[in-house]
Amino acid sequence: MRQQTLLALSMCVLGMNSALAEGFIEHKQHQHGQAQLNIAIEKNEIEVEFLSPAMNLLGFEYKPSSTEDKRQFVKTLTTLRKGEELFLLKSCQLKESDIHSTLIETAHVDDHSSHKRDVSEHDHDSAHKDNHSDFSVHYHFHCPDGVPDRVQTDLFMEFSGLESVAVTVLGEKQIRSTLNRKKNVINLL
Ligand SMILES: [Zn+2]
Repeated sequence: MRQQTLLALSMCVLGMNSALAEGFIEHKQHQHGQAQLNIAIEKNEIEVEFLSPAMNLLGFEYKPSSTEDKRQFVKTLTTLRKGEELFLLKSCQLKESDIHSTLIETAHVDDHSSHKRDVSEHDHDSAHKDNHSDFSVHYHFHCPDGVPDRVQTDLFMEFSGLESVAVTVLGEKQIRSTLNRKKNVINLL
């Protein structure tokens, strides 16, 4: 009986992790100042998904055009890539960071629109649906000495437009919490 429960639990964790990786977790609506953090833990691995309106990170949501916009865009991408500085997970190594944004996709679609009109439905939607844009960032940490029981995040220090972050941790149990400028520590276990 006990074994069956453990098996069910581990299958559940595995399922949740792949759900996280493939973006099947329900994403909240785009609201400026708010963001979402989904963290999945499995053995010595931590997967982090950070979802935020571009406004919180860039200060604007259009395709960067001026020199100042482009400088800000590059700065934001550089900061987002440094997962080991945004999430202070001592004894863990950052193995991977991927950044996706409708702004990056829009730039790509625009490059080809004059040559090719049959842009796919998805690209068309992201380019013309509305004037809002989001960032989705994925990090993978490997923790050879085990996953620490808590992590401090410097997201609020780096991004002044961020007011609150809804956190879901999927590990042996599910932990939900909300971070803000005064609360920047996430319990993982
Ligand atoms: Zn917006």
